[in-house]
Amino acid sequence: MIEYENLLKVNQDAFDEYREAFDRVLKSGWYILGEQVKNFEQAFSAYCNTRYCIGVANGLDALILSLKALDLEPGSEVIVPSNTYIATILSIVHNGLQPILVEPDINTYNIDPSLIEEKITSRTRAIMVVHLYGKLCNMEAIRAIAFKHDLKIIEDCAQAHGASYHETRAGNWGDLGAFSFYPTKNLGALGDAGAVTCNDEMLKNKIANLRNYGSSVKYHNEDIGFNSRLDELQAALLSIKLKRLDHINSHKRSLAHLYLNGLKEDFIKPVVQEGYFDVYHIFNIRHPKRDALKEYLLKHGIKTEIHYPIAPNKQPAMKEVLHDQPSPIAELIHSTTLSLPISYFHTTDDVSRVIEIMNCY
Ligand SMILES: *Cc1c(COP(=O)(O)O)cnc(C)c1O
Repeated sequence: MIEYENLLKVNQDAFDEYREAFDRVLKSGWYILGEQVKNFEQAFSAYCNTRYCIGVANGLDALILSLKALDLEPGSEVIVPSNTYIATILSIVHNGLQPILVEPDINTYNIDPSLIEEKITSRTRAIMVVHLYGKLCNMEAIRAIAFKHDLKIIEDCAQAHGASYHETRAGNWGDLGAFSFYPTKNLGALGDAGAVTCNDEMLKNKIANLRNYGSSVKYHNEDIGFNSRLDELQAALLSIKLKRLDHINSHKRSLAHLYLNGLKEDFIKPVVQEGYFDVYHIFNIRHPKRDALKEYLLKHGIKTEIHYPIAPNKQPAMKEVLHDQPSPIAELIHSTTLSLPISYFHTTDDVSRVIEIMNCY
């Protein structure tokens, strides 16, 4: 059996360091917003080449607090790709804002810059881009549009730790970058965790405030805040994992290249473009008979996943919010996409086996 994911195997080579870190945090007697969080924030902002990083409780909160920090008037419109994970859209809705769907480019699965301007109205205030599957969006084109129309940019970097475009990493292209460290992400914690990156000191202070009851001085509340703190233990573990991130990404990239070179042309493979450094959080292919293919692979002992089976505009929860925003390209992707095993623990033999079975389909 070739598993799709196995978090025990993903973390195994860091166990000794994790145990040592757990001991260190345990014995410190300080468990919330201390040295460990500060250290991780410094290390991760250095990694992303941003001035600031603020640790928060999870990726959804990183998105919610990023939008909150921009202080947009209620009912403002935020442009977002129609094929994203639901969290991106939830962050807009939870801020009392209106998501405006823009379809992805069918080749990159990322928001199509050429379709953005027709969706801009007098109420549009921000573009929330998503670097889906670990590939950056065309940020030069998106930045030009945002500059022209005076829009803010928030990057959903939950799948793109260490990915870059023209040497600039995810989290350093927009006004704010929102990261998730959910255990399955390329940089994964042993529980929930997230962070926001930015280069603006005021935005940094605002987010640091919002994550901690809207307070920068104890018992003085300047903003209507949240409790969304990254805890010391997860921060200590993430600092250990961060040192391995480039190695994790390069392993996933080498597995991806095996797939790209080995899979027959019946499968629509991810595009590789000049200037883009993709980190393959997910390796997806598309096939018109996706469900039968998934079944066939399972029969041959290969587990796969679908990211994602239902487009946001078809989700019951979004009936009111997105009901009049059809997204045929997103629906085409959702009905044909299949994610192949590409975790850190998979070997080249595992991937060769998947390729062999797939090419007999
Ligand atoms: C995982 C993910 C999130 C949410 O992260 P959580 O830490 O689970 O809240 C948001 N956006 C995208 C694109 C994701 O993949």
